[in-house]
Amino acid sequence: MSELDALYEEIILDHYRSPRNSAPGLAGEDVHVHHSNPLCGDEMDLRVRIRDGVLDGLAFDGDGCSISRASASAMSVAVLGRPVEDVLELSEDFRLMMHGEEPSRPDDLGDGMVFQGVARFPVRVKCALLGWMALRDAIDTFRRGDEANDVTHEDESE
Ligand code: ZN
Repeated sequence: MSELDALYEEIILDHYRSPRNSAPGLAGEDVHVHHSNPLCGDEMDLRVRIRDGVLDGLAFDGDGCSISRASASAMSVAVLGRPVEDVLELSEDFRLMMHGEEPSRPDDLGDGMVFQGVARFPVRVKCALLGWMALRDAIDTFRRGDEANDVTHEDESE
């Protein structure tokens, strides 16, 4: 393992052990989505609060592997306080990175960058993407005027 890989693993473990913005509820929540990744058995609940077009609050919870939970934790730090339009752009940057492309906003992805190496392991890509896909769906759900949605990621094309 290279020094960089070891550092990345350390950051992933830190997010897994001390997840940021992980809670079973969120005050003033607007949307609650549940996403599952049957390939790994990950289950994720994501709650968001959107105020004046800004992602004002986020809480994730559920049972998932270390990659899915650590990625959601790193994501929460990267996206909180951003306009939702910007959050969607950043989530697309992360998605493309997990499919092998160089991210265009590495500084904004923050600790999310440590998951770049996961792109080498196709079965773990969905784990790293789960929180980001749930967040994108939560924003879409909010825009539709709904308060909840439930998604199972069976489609390999993501
Ligand atoms: Zn997983």
